[in-house]
Amino acid sequence: MNLLKEAGSPKTIGITGHIRPDGDCVGAVFGTYAYLKNVYKDADIRLFLEQPPAIYSFLKGYDKVDTTFAYPGQFDVFIALDSADIGRIGDADKLFLGAKKSILIDHHISNNGFGDVFCVEPEASSTCEILTRLFEDEYMDVDVAKALYTGIAHDTGVFRYSCTGPDTFAALQKLVAYDFDGSKITDETFYQKTYVQNQLLGRTLLESILFMDGRCIAGYIDRKAMEFYEAESSDFEGIVNQLQMTKGVEVAIFMYETGTLEFKVSMRSNGKVNVAEVSSYFGGGGHVRAAGCNMNGTFHDVLNNLSLHIEKQLESFDQ
Ligand code: 5GP
Ligand code: MN
Repeated sequence: MNLLKEAGSPKTIGITGHIRPDGDCVGAVFGTYAYLKNVYKDADIRLFLEQPPAIYSFLKGYDKVDTTFAYPGQFDVFIALDSADIGRIGDADKLFLGAKKSILIDHHISNNGFGDVFCVEPEASSTCEILTRLFEDEYMDVDVAKALYTGIAHDTGVFRYSCTGPDTFAALQKLVAYDFDGSKITDETFYQKTYVQNQLLGRTLLESILFMDGRCIAGYIDRKAMEFYEAESSDFEGIVNQLQMTKGVEVAIFMYETGTLEFKVSMRSNGKVNVAEVSSYFGGGGHVRAAGCNMNGTFHDVLNNLSLHIEKQLESFDQ
């Protein structure tokens, strides 16, 4: 995709990402904002996103986020980032669908494409990696580079997960040429945890259960605990990855209660099980090794339903 050709000469541009924005989503949204500001100096560029965590407040555009999703007019161009389906952009869907031109850029394998034009690259580590390739050098600057670096770092577990490939490092080479402190970004947005976040992690690990002969691990946080710790969904980031680090485990499951008998489920696989496929049975999606969905029932109901699909995949892998 040639982003600037597709965008044309817009006077108004809207940008959004997915609900409960993570590092790649935030990096992609603010990176695109900083980049398009350099390209279209006179355009009115708006950002629509659920409130991103304060750890990202160093990124250009953070103070411009509109969390109301209210806009009276029609956008010339509206861009959705890091969003596997239209439902993932939440309340921005009307603005996206109502725009003169809607553009999607994403890397989820479960994404079938939506909008007028789309660029979906499931082999890319992150949406920010794709953007690094799409963005033209003459409009790049340190603000764009910092945002894209943040996104790549988060979706690769700081350049570690199997999604990290030669193209990821080629993108990073382009970004680190700009003058910023990459380790400060990864320390302060990825590794550092608040006291409460560490307590939630500790509690989940302590109460986790191992099943399917040690090939599956699951942990959860219920509403009572969430209220006690005054936790938000962003406080759970990284817990499922720590569960996954248990020796012998093929699939790690973390869930937290979003309502009565309602859970947001996160899954991680070490490769044998395609968790995007497991999630798709329950209306979710994601990547082969990292995916999620929303499910109803008790913690044990949810586990039973997921286990059926995980077990089937493990059995066919073992044969
Ligand atoms: P996480 O477990 O970190 O929330 O999400 C892992 C991956 O799965 C992310 O790439 C995320 O976009 C995707 N994902 C998580 N929940 C859902 C969901 O409910 N629907 C879809 N389509 N993707 C999801
Ligand atoms: Mn992503």
